[in-house]
Amino acid sequence: MKFAAIWNDDLLSYDFGRGHPLRSERCKTGVEELSKISSLNIVDPRYATEDEIALVHTREYIDMVRKGRAGDLDTPVSKELFDPARLSVGATLRAIELLKEDYRLSVNLCGGWHHAFENKARGLCIFNDVAIGARYAQKLGFRKVFIVDWDVHHGDGTQRIFKGDKSVFTMSIHQHPATQYPYVTGYESENDETNLNVPLLPSESEQEIMKRVLPMIPQFVKPFKPDLMIVQMGVDGHRGDPMSSLDLSDRFYDSISRVVARCAKNNDFPVVLLGGGGFNFPKTAQLWKMIVENFIEEM
Ligand SMILES: [Zn+2]
Repeated sequence: MKFAAIWNDDLLSYDFGRGHPLRSERCKTGVEELSKISSLNIVDPRYATEDEIALVHTREYIDMVRKGRAGDLDTPVSKELFDPARLSVGATLRAIELLKEDYRLSVNLCGGWHHAFENKARGLCIFNDVAIGARYAQKLGFRKVFIVDWDVHHGDGTQRIFKGDKSVFTMSIHQHPATQYPYVTGYESENDETNLNVPLLPSESEQEIMKRVLPMIPQFVKPFKPDLMIVQMGVDGHRGDPMSSLDLSDRFYDSISRVVARCAKNNDFPVVLLGGGGFNFPKTAQLWKMIVENFIEEM
């Protein structure tokens, strides 16, 4: 069984600049931590093609990004970011390709951009590599894809893109949107046959959250019979993260990663891990490493 992380320093170009929370050194520090795991191979990323990005995004939007005319205050998109954004998506696609070879788990820390809509950059995200990855995986023969997103923010772009699509299950575990970005979505009222929102209240203890939420993962994964799972493993819900109002400790991430990994082993499908949020350094990098190690151990 083989395990890989996708990285080379070209990915440092995916950087929103000084003063912005999304700096590429987040991923660089993360990869330095991951490189301490001896069984993990480091594999180069590639650029996603425009046709691959168009599996999810409109041609008009892609063109706007190329010209630096997309984005908002949170997500300033200059035309210099077009190629770095393609590389970040391509890193996710490379991670998925490896699962067609003899890899069982692959990681792209410079990915997990779940807020991007098909026609809009939002919430620090330009291209939704989670959704592009799921569509690309289906082209490679992974027919049913289960997405688990435990970033502190609701995976709104991903939910929207797969609304009504029974071949992709979207599960998002996040801080309750009454108290957290994106505020307008992420409620249980949006749940349907293949979409499950699990909002967490700042008033709930870690113990209560784990007891309530962890059993839901095998409960929903097993009957869906996925061929592949994509995990958005944002750690911005950790109590030390500037984005979080939740009281989650290392224990939460230790437990949820083991539960998901056992689920993958028991139901026999490979897993892609995408970095997502996490803005408290070096803690974010340490949590990512613990999660990856748990997957390797359990799978
Ligand atoms: Zn987040």
